[in-house]
Amino acid sequence: MKDIGQRHTGVSLREAVPYVRLFKGKTFIVKVGGALLTDDAATREVLAQIDALMHLGIRVVLVHGGGAQASTLSRALGSEPRFVGGRRITDAPALAAAVATLNGEANTTLLAACRALGIAAVGLSGVDSALVRARRRPPVLVEGETVDYGHVGDVVAVDPGVLDRLLAGGTLPVVSPLAADDEGNVLNCNADGVAAALAVAMGAAKLVLLTDVAGLLERPDDPRSLVSYIDVAGLARLRGRGVLAGGMAPKAAAIETALAGGVARAHLVSWHTPDGLLAELFTNEGSGTLVVPELGTLSPAEKTAEAAAQTAEAPVT
Ligand code: ADP
Ligand code: MG
Repeated sequence: MKDIGQRHTGVSLREAVPYVRLFKGKTFIVKVGGALLTDDAATREVLAQIDALMHLGIRVVLVHGGGAQASTLSRALGSEPRFVGGRRITDAPALAAAVATLNGEANTTLLAACRALGIAAVGLSGVDSALVRARRRPPVLVEGETVDYGHVGDVVAVDPGVLDRLLAGGTLPVVSPLAADDEGNVLNCNADGVAAALAVAMGAAKLVLLTDVAGLLERPDDPRSLVSYIDVAGLARLRGRGVLAGGMAPKAAAIETALAGGVARAHLVSWHTPDGLLAELFTNEGSGTLVVPELGTLSPAEKTAEAAAQTAEAPVT
């Protein structure tokens, strides 16, 4: 079991009112990992929480990953996915698998679940309407070897006009992280990074990364070592200690990009935790990890409640 982050006992409406007032009309970018989509019940749980946010007047953009599904399809088609330094090599067959799974299976799975819940949603990717412009990543030196990651993109620019139009119509945009360059070459981008770029471009109030662990863990193999809140300097300290490994490395980088670009708050939350998203957003004690630019920017309510929670948990680093 990876996740035991089930600290909260529910969301009190009274406690939530100041947050409801604060969040009305704000934009939140919510990113879900591809693993969520393999769990129908959990997918619906997350979407029901997003539906609640939409009813509270929050402009939500949902971004999804799907790397694991792309690997499964690659294998089914007879080519073993290759990784160097933890990052996928996207050769031509791997790109075809990424297009089929991200823009196809993963995106459609979310849209179908939205249909079942009565959420008006439209699926698109960074390729649509110039939403995400990317540049092919040049070959890089990894462990003394030059590695060409292939059809992998780094985000250069975002034109969120299409998202604004969807949101104005009360629609939930469901965004796959594929992008393209100006020549129309499709590029595979990291979904955490795309979510961060959208958050910056849209002036979002929050970036929320929903993943399969309770949040940022001081010791990745110890679910009780959840960090309730941290700032950018704290993240850098954890990176220096080698704690931001595997899938957490692009998440930490995405959070840093978002906060540096003016997004006030980033959150890491488990999609396993019942109502974990709502608890993180609408209660003082939260459910996952809150990341702020500087700890000094925490509001008194955030500090008091977090301090109380922290005495029973791992110390803030
Ligand atoms: P997603 O599909 O949500 O992007 P990833 O697997 O890419 O999920 O990233 C989440 C994973 O990062 C966790 O399951 C965990 O194994 C790993 N991880 C590495 N270091 C940490 C850490 N310090 N805290 C939490 N998770 C970590
Ligand atoms: Mg990931």
